[in-house]
Amino acid sequence: MSEQREQYLEALGIPVWKLRAGPATPATTAQPVDTAAPLEVVATHLVASAAAAPATMGWDELAAAVSVCTKCALHATRTQTVFGVGRRNADLLVIGEAPGADEDRQGEPFVGRAGQLLNSMLRAIGLPRSEVYIANILKCRPPGNRDPQPDEARTCTPYLARQIALVNPRAILAVGRIAAQWLLQTDAPIGRLRGRVVPYGEAGTPLVVTYHPAFLLRSPLAKATAWTDLCMVKDLLRKPQ
Ligand code: URA
Repeated sequence: MSEQREQYLEALGIPVWKLRAGPATPATTAQPVDTAAPLEVVATHLVASAAAAPATMGWDELAAAVSVCTKCALHATRTQTVFGVGRRNADLLVIGEAPGADEDRQGEPFVGRAGQLLNSMLRAIGLPRSEVYIANILKCRPPGNRDPQPDEARTCTPYLARQIALVNPRAILAVGRIAAQWLLQTDAPIGRLRGRVVPYGEAGTPLVVTYHPAFLLRSPLAKATAWTDLCMVKDLLRKPQ
């Protein structure tokens, strides 16, 4: 393990154990996941909604459409829309829930404290923020950071569906319960959704769920478990195409 990676893991609060001989192995407190247990994944809503207007848009047209969107009530309380950021042909697409106060102010996803932690998590698997694409289910901040409502998510979904199609990633990382449950159209708890690879959408893009960095800031002991999810993503991206 490189010194740099060790530093990132330390920054995440993940203890790094070194074998006397051989490579260092990150410790984990992850509970074993029953990956044999079937997960009911419908996830057809994004495919279906891609048939709506944005489905044929290119990046610039899509970004312009989002920037003036008034399709739901959230437009009235936003400072600005938060479209997405990063490499438009990234191997990894990270999908969060919705902009918070910092993101609403700056117009970019994951720029607050949770965003700093997300950056460290990505760096720990060798991916600088600039190498991935980051988007949210909602493009506008829900007032007071409340959870997105299903009708808001439904209305905003054609934009995300088009982003997924345009990025065409090799893997998707869904961060947090809200993003995971919406993408996979399930009420299953995040503890059941994380720790496994789920084929997503028509293309069967491998999707991994992990804890939201805002949760990890409140529950640092879960960082070690999240690390195992990130390692899963890293393994997926390592596989030959
Ligand atoms: N939380 C999210 O899910 N997305 C953001 O952009 C910021 C915080």
